[in-house]
Amino acid sequence: MSTAGGEDSSSSSRKGKEKQGESGREEGAEWVGEVDLGDLCGAAAGWVEARTSCPHLGSLPPAGAADLERVPPPDSPCSRCHHPAENWLCLICKDVLCSRFINKHMLRHYQETGHCLALSFSDLSVWCFACDSYLDVQAILELRPVYEVAHLLKFGERPPFRSLEVLDLSTGENRSSSSGS
Ligand SMILES: [Zn+2]
Ligand SMILES: [Zn+2]
Ligand SMILES: [Zn+2]
Repeated sequence: MSTAGGEDSSSSSRKGKEKQGESGREEGAEWVGEVDLGDLCGAAAGWVEARTSCPHLGSLPPAGAADLERVPPPDSPCSRCHHPAENWLCLICKDVLCSRFINKHMLRHYQETGHCLALSFSDLSVWCFACDSYLDVQAILELRPVYEVAHLLKFGERPPFRSLEVLDLSTGENRSSSSGS
């Protein structure tokens, strides 16, 4: 109906388009649909089939209040070159470092320390350098706490998880009647 699929996404100059937040309605059940749409658009723009598991999750610090309090605001500058925004958060030590399109400080951090899990403050996706792949924050429970905190800091509300819908769709069809050639 309204999913604009043919947009040129070559320019990287989108800024602040998600400031439609109207203060006032906090029903708690109404906003899920709207926010979900925005989230899907953002994900679809650069979707590359995220992994649903990663052997390096064991290097994450134990998720807890003490650890999550160390998550800096999403507009934190790179701790090395002070690039102002769109940086990455090292999920191991919570250092903020710039992307490979700026000065590659997150990549270098991984090469120096082996800290391979990083969360993008630009779209809140999680990248594993060792797997060389995105990780699905919806599916990987270990990533949810820090993702939720980052989402809360960036958008002022918790993320809408859609894993239940996915499960509902994928199950419930279990027909094994005859060979369907
Ligand atoms: Zn940097
Ligand atoms: Zn680190
Ligand atoms: Zn990995």
